[in-house]
Amino acid sequence: MQQPAEAPPTLSIVVPLYNEEGNVAPLLERIVGILTRLPGTPSYEIILVNDGSKDRTLACIREEMRRHRNIALVSLSRNFGHQIAASAGIDIAQGDAVVLMDGDLQDPPELISEFVEKWRQGYDVVYAVRRTRKGESPFKLLTARVFYRTIKRLTKVSIPVDTGDFRLMSRRVVVALKRSPERHRFLRGLVSWVGYNQIGVEYDRDERLSGETKYPLPKMLRFAIDGITSFSDVPLRFASYLGFFSSAVAFIYALLVVGFKLFSLHPPGYTRGWASTIVAVLFLGGVQLISLGILGEYIGRIYDETKGRPLYLISEIERS
Ligand code: UDP
Ligand code: MG
Repeated sequence: MQQPAEAPPTLSIVVPLYNEEGNVAPLLERIVGILTRLPGTPSYEIILVNDGSKDRTLACIREEMRRHRNIALVSLSRNFGHQIAASAGIDIAQGDAVVLMDGDLQDPPELISEFVEKWRQGYDVVYAVRRTRKGESPFKLLTARVFYRTIKRLTKVSIPVDTGDFRLMSRRVVVALKRSPERHRFLRGLVSWVGYNQIGVEYDRDERLSGETKYPLPKMLRFAIDGITSFSDVPLRFASYLGFFSSAVAFIYALLVVGFKLFSLHPPGYTRGWASTIVAVLFLGGVQLISLGILGEYIGRIYDETKGRPLYLISEIERS
């Protein structure tokens, strides 16, 4: 018998998962628990994006799909990274509002009820601001602090500080995101860029329930550079400021040298002239390398974008 076409759900919860075998069951337990207790019991779907996990994550998801309804499993063809896995889930989500959250229960699902309340009041984006963060190393806390404040100074888009990707987005924000095909995705920046009515709610970030972080230092750095280069051209201009500054210093230095020569003066250190030469060469060399490096970061990204490959490939979609 032909099934009647179902109306799209009110809420979509999108969770990217990479090697989270120990977290899938408790995560669903808590999400379903909170969703079924929401005022007005809105219809929902939970989209689990398996980002090429190498452990039992996929099997765990399948097990949970036998237990819970309204779950969609989206498997990517390999590991594409957190931001792209999240984008894949958002692309598939059909809800009037889409909530994005991590799969390690660092983002407490209970906050969804506050999100929905604010959304019903007319906000398009409700983002979670981390009041405190449990179970993170002092190094991660410090670098995150510095990063959010740096990017805030470097860009005109107002990206809220201490805010991750845990948030609710209305349909028109999701539509705007889907129209932004950029590959080096910094979702929290993109969502801020979209605009409309945005509001933050504070929460205490929990420890990861099980497993290890999937953001070791090199990945974290890449992510930070993606964020800055996607939303700021200040570093590009910084290269030219640095160039101007060092040329000015070099010019003054040249005048001095010529002056000393003309008046046959012997400044202190005259006989050790090579030292100043070396210093000048090293300084200029350094400035040039930094500038080239910054150019490289941007050109690499232009190259990536021009290839125009799809953001991700899906190997299967199943619904329960
Ligand atoms: N994640 C993913 N693909 C990756 C890396 C991470 O889908 O390549 C998921 C991961 O399973 C988790 C979320 O992204 O649900 C955030 O990752 P993690 O908790 O490791 O980051 P942290 O909280 O340490 O910054
Ligand atoms: Mg985490």
